[in-house]
Amino acid sequence: MASRSAAADAIVVGAGRSTRMGGMDKLAAEVAGRPLLAWTLGALAAAPVVERIVVVAAPERTAGIARADWLPANVIDVVAGGDRRQESVHAGFVALIARAPDAADEAGVVLVHDAARPLVGSDLIGAVAAAVAEHGAAIPVVPVAETLKRLDGELVGATVERAGLGAAQTPQGVRRDLLQEAYRRFPADGPETFTDEAALLEACSIPVHVVPGEPGNLKVTLPADLDRAALALAGRRATRTGIGHDSHRFGPGAPLRLGGVELDGAPALAGHSDGDVALHALADALLGATGLGDLGRLFPADERTPRGVAGAVLVGEVVRRAAAAGWRPLTVDMTIVAARPRLGAHLDRMRDAIAELLDVPPDAINVKASSGNLDGPEGAGRSISALVMATVEATR
Ligand code: MG
Repeated sequence: MASRSAAADAIVVGAGRSTRMGGMDKLAAEVAGRPLLAWTLGALAAAPVVERIVVVAAPERTAGIARADWLPANVIDVVAGGDRRQESVHAGFVALIARAPDAADEAGVVLVHDAARPLVGSDLIGAVAAAVAEHGAAIPVVPVAETLKRLDGELVGATVERAGLGAAQTPQGVRRDLLQEAYRRFPADGPETFTDEAALLEACSIPVHVVPGEPGNLKVTLPADLDRAALALAGRRATRTGIGHDSHRFGPGAPLRLGGVELDGAPALAGHSDGDVALHALADALLGATGLGDLGRLFPADERTPRGVAGAVLVGEVVRRAAAAGWRPLTVDMTIVAARPRLGAHLDRMRDAIAELLDVPPDAINVKASSGNLDGPEGAGRSISALVMATVEATR
């Protein structure tokens, strides 16, 4: 674990044209439920050594990124990049100096990271920052696995000796004073083109230290890389689980409203609302998972809540509040206990109705029925109860 003395600021560069993505804006591409750039910034923000982040994006993208709800709190600026990577990095560096004058400390560590590398780990970020603090400049490098060939048109010209070769990753880090010196010698808008920060430093004869890279620190370059990133990122988001339970007696009237559907011919359940115990238990499970209290407090069974309000309205309001708090439904498991009516033929309809209410695929919802085994008021046919477990995932 890197020490606090290696605290670093990060410039995340994603102003390129994604030419190898067939025109797709790869940073905006949805990966495992949120934009690729959101994952990358989240990974940097989660690294203990990273204090402030400046994002460099294509000019037409900066406004949208700056107001995105997934933007980490320590992003201090989102600025437009240039035509070449070095101009984009320089724009980010200028913004960092302007926005964080207290960081004018010459020995401050600046990390430059590809926006298209969402899988970078906190350990690697900390290791690069620590190496920069000690040596002045450092980059992560992974061994080259494939045998390398120098090509001569469509023919193989020669095999390149692999020993001594490595592939450079990001974040690349450099002490602030060394980077400023490099920019003095090679202005970012000058004729020389440097493909990464290490190349710029090499041109200035500034030694660049090597730290072991992470094989999983994939750079999304081709469309197929998005699928690889999605596989690696699935399940990385925080999830929480809640339970809900409700029970209503049968009352006068019909039809029965249960699980978001109507069952013609079956007696209704009593209640200030429409008596849909299954959706009430679902709403409580979602409130439990998101830490937002319970349905009774949100919708008191008195004049403050409209009489006969549909369970779907209650669930809809709970989903809206959960979304505002940064959560969305992921899965639901529900058991409805009822000796009457027979529910087996209606469970798929309930599943589909709940999936639509929560905006999740039907296979994320499971609705089961139990007869109550003739035990308790449900078993005696006097009431219906429902037990729900719901899982939500963080959206930011
Ligand atoms: Mg209820």
